Amino acid sequence: MTVSRRDFISTAVAGSLAVGLGQKSEAQKSTSSGPATGAVGTSKAPIIVCAGNGYNYIEEGYNILKSGGDTLDAAMRVIRGPEDDPNDTSVGLGGLPNEDGVVELDACCMHGPTRRAGAVGGVHNIKNVSLLSKAVMDHTGHVFLVGEGAEKFAVAQGFPTENLLTDSTRKIWLLYKETHSDWWGPGLSDPNWKRRLQRGLQSQPTKQSANEELKLRVEHMREVAQDIGIPQEDQLAAIRKVLFPPTGTIHCSALNEKGEMSGCTTTSGLGWKIPGRVGDSALIGAGCYTDQDVGSAGATGSGEENIKVAGAHTIVENMRHGMSPLDAGMDALKRIVRNYNGDMDRLKFMDMTYYILRKDGAYAGVSLWEGYDANKPHKIVIHDGQRRAEKTVSLFQGVSEEWPPEFKNPMDL
Ligand code: ASP
Repeated sequence: MTVSRRDFISTAVAGSLAVGLGQKSEAQKSTSSGPATGAVGTSKAPIIVCAGNGYNYIEEGYNILKSGGDTLDAAMRVIRGPEDDPNDTSVGLGGLPNEDGVVELDACCMHGPTRRAGAVGGVHNIKNVSLLSKAVMDHTGHVFLVGEGAEKFAVAQGFPTENLLTDSTRKIWLLYKETHSDWWGPGLSDPNWKRRLQRGLQSQPTKQSANEELKLRVEHMREVAQDIGIPQEDQLAAIRKVLFPPTGTIHCSALNEKGEMSGCTTTSGLGWKIPGRVGDSALIGAGCYTDQDVGSAGATGSGEENIKVAGAHTIVENMRHGMSPLDAGMDALKRIVRNYNGDMDRLKFMDMTYYILRKDGAYAGVSLWEGYDANKPHKIVIHDGQRRAEKTVSLFQGVSEEWPPEFKNPMDL
């Protein structure tokens, strides 16, 4: 059942920002009791929820649950879909690589029935890092393996090694390399973050001069893309990926009829990241957290921000203390907002989506913004006998902007 509550939330948030985040507005205080629209529902086991890119695979996961299978096996079945898909550039095979052109993967999982966890970070050459995180859980006395050690362990466990860069992502990476985008320099949380606004622009940029400069840059990039051999119809999409490094990940949480729960998250992380950067998806408590006495949660979006609020764990703990899935998720999002003292000049550049499932089958999908793009709202996919994708409830109205901010979002990219 979907409950309509979005309007109320948006008003509440506008109120909270208007009064500053140090104080609570009346609206903010009462966020837990009004109507809003979006993915908020109650259902019953078996139920499985995941990020939007799991839509084509969730049926298989649901069937495992339905036939009495293990909850982590069900979640893994969903997650393997995008990992195996060379056209999903956010996960596994065909994920966008790091700065050096190497696909570097993160994943973690939690198995509720046995209260165990496994995680891997910065892994090369192994496509199914979700399964690898499970292998760490099943076959070691550790929880978290990274880099070379994780890859050696994978080989020992019989995982095939393969080059995860496809011809298409290799060419996009070449375009990135040849046109010098990078992640070096102050990030959004640095007090000097505004220096970044000036980079690439001459003196004080006006909206017009920035657009003019963007046009020239895109023209130049088109020439480079042509030389590299990127097909004409793919050039703008490739340029967009280079200018605005995309994110993308998949999380899945599952609940069976016995009340058992598990969760798993996997990603190739931020495109063009600095080699060695590990995001939230590898971190138990940030990208995924499951306690089947309470519920399970996972995240996609700005990994750095999610790490700082230990998002998935925060949400599960909030539910433990009585919050609904919606309120628990909204609270985690507000912690991100609090980390920036409500500075919308910076918050507009980040986004975060949480997928939340409580042990009684209640669920919610929440996000900081409505989407990256007005035509592509953030969604949570649910299967409880009926497969559906529902728009998340967003804390802020509108869509996030692209980071880095050298240029405004190009209208035609
Ligand atoms: N959270 C992922 C990371 O930071 C990226 C994403 O979900 O889009 O690596």
